[in-house]
Amino acid sequence: MIGQALVEVAQLVKLHDTADGTVRAVDGVSLVVRQGEVLGLVGESGCGKSTLGRAILALERPSAGAVRFAGQDLAKLGSGALRRLRRDMQIVFQDPFGSLNPRSTVERILSEPFAVHGMGSRAERRGWVQELLRKVGLRPEHAGRFPHEFSGGQRQRISIARAIALKPKFIVCDEAVSALDVSIQAQILNLLQELRMSEALTYLFISHDLGVVGRIADRIAVMYLGQIVELGSARGVARRPRHPYTQALFAAVPTVRGRREKSAAIASEPPSPYAMPSGCRFHTRCPIAVERCRIEQPRLREVAPGQEAACHLA
Ligand code: SF4
Repeated sequence: MIGQALVEVAQLVKLHDTADGTVRAVDGVSLVVRQGEVLGLVGESGCGKSTLGRAILALERPSAGAVRFAGQDLAKLGSGALRRLRRDMQIVFQDPFGSLNPRSTVERILSEPFAVHGMGSRAERRGWVQELLRKVGLRPEHAGRFPHEFSGGQRQRISIARAIALKPKFIVCDEAVSALDVSIQAQILNLLQELRMSEALTYLFISHDLGVVGRIADRIAVMYLGQIVELGSARGVARRPRHPYTQALFAAVPTVRGRREKSAAIASEPPSPYAMPSGCRFHTRCPIAVERCRIEQPRLREVAPGQEAACHLA
């Protein structure tokens, strides 16, 4: 059941200062993730979606704007309260090999969240680890093995087990299936769906692949150069994408024959984040741009019931 707002992001800005200048990695994003839903966040690499995910989890401090989780403004929490709240918010990364300590057994990896929070005796933790392994489709004897002894899909199951250990409410899946073969991707997506129901989870599902996002998301937010350009129900956005950038992303999704038809609009490189285009940021790649697009920045507005797009012509 999809319920009330669990995560509320208001006018979030995140600037990254680099040797070459300041990048507006996230630039005025507002969105809501409702209890029990999967919000898909899609866009090309470098569009700011991972930065947005990290800012929502308070792993990065916003330059401006606010994030509220379960009604609490994260910026106003003290370190103790934030630490307690972090138990409710977890992340699963693309590369489980990079995020799992190669010298630790699965037992140790999965016990760590309990140890960090001072939960349970050794025997209790061992029991909880067995339970976690069962929940993610692994076997009890896997507890004594090391990460390199598993396949990519199994390693991602271990990462997911670690993410759900403390019974969180919300998980950011950041390209969580992008490194996996298509058949394994489907298995992990199924697992995430099962856990969503059994563990009452809410996901922000980040991916550059609109095809993958479309298989799990209830709603989809499309991000381009730090801003949300389209937001709506997954079905509505898939049936009739209104923003030319979303249309180009859909054109790049593999067809039933397995062909990948990359739209001319996104075959070219996106503009440098150090020199954002004026007006609509997509105008340098948009096939239907008009003069107004070069001058005036479009605002996100409702273009169909439950569907918003930031395009003058949508
Ligand atoms: Fe294209 Fe103009 Fe719409 Fe931007 S506002 S997406 S440039 S038509």
